[in-house]
Amino acid sequence: MRTVYVNGDYLPEDQAQVSIFDRGFLMADAVYEVTSVLDGKLLDFDGHCARLERSLGELGMTMPVTRDELLDIHRRLVAENAVEEGGVYLQITRGAADRDFVFPADDTPQTMVLFTQSKPGLADSPLAARGMSVVTLPDLRWGRRDIKTVQLLYPSMAKMEAKAKGADDAWMVEDGHVTEGSSNNAYIVTGDTIVTRHLGTEILHGITRAAVLRLAREAQMKVEERPFSVEEAAEADEAFVTSASTFVTPVVAIDGRKVGTGEPGPTAKRLREIYLDESRRTAI
Ligand code: PMP
Repeated sequence: MRTVYVNGDYLPEDQAQVSIFDRGFLMADAVYEVTSVLDGKLLDFDGHCARLERSLGELGMTMPVTRDELLDIHRRLVAENAVEEGGVYLQITRGAADRDFVFPADDTPQTMVLFTQSKPGLADSPLAARGMSVVTLPDLRWGRRDIKTVQLLYPSMAKMEAKAKGADDAWMVEDGHVTEGSSNNAYIVTGDTIVTRHLGTEILHGITRAAVLRLAREAQMKVEERPFSVEEAAEADEAFVTSASTFVTPVVAIDGRKVGTGEPGPTAKRLREIYLDESRRTAI
């Protein structure tokens, strides 16, 4: 049984409790982060912390603990649960208060929970080797997708619809342009240029995206941050997605049409290698 963290306590998972009045539960009034673990170490912890602070700030919440304390909690959970490959999930809510649309008083204690997920073979994934298929669906999420809230119902429905259509995942589309994947950032490669949507309120500012774009530029690859259409994606030479838990994963089909050769492309493969090497080297 896992040891999990709830508001200062480390407990067996079946003894951890949160109030039924918690606003995370009643209103999705909560933010989260997922930090990947390789070789028992945390990947890009600082990046995830910085985004967490920003998400909380955008919702008028604060960090309940310092960054150093947060790192200690992550490390203790990884050690106690002997996680070699996997991730640490963190959620902070506005706390428990009688149900009301109005936020509770500022001194309402926030709820913070963390748990680990062991995923042996994370770095050596069969999906990355074969490449994934996506279907496009309308992006019906709210307008502040840059805040990492726990409102994951639409992404969940999108993934279910993708699976029902025999695909691995969904790319979401707004005004004819791809915003992002249901739980990842989306990219295409045309000629020698990598294209991915620019940052804004329409997408989550992926921590993996930031690292991969930096590494691509360092490797002298051309990067354009702009919207791309579904048509442009279908005619691209390659496509791929990035996220903390899937790193760089090639996309080989969009809406049943092959992307390029229909096999994982060289740019995505190379970026996955570079990203994994760099992540292992800098993990803490
Ligand atoms: N977009 C969405 C909608 C996501 O849910 C995620 C993963 N949480 C990402 C992008 C990728 O972000 P990251 O690289 O920080 O995991």
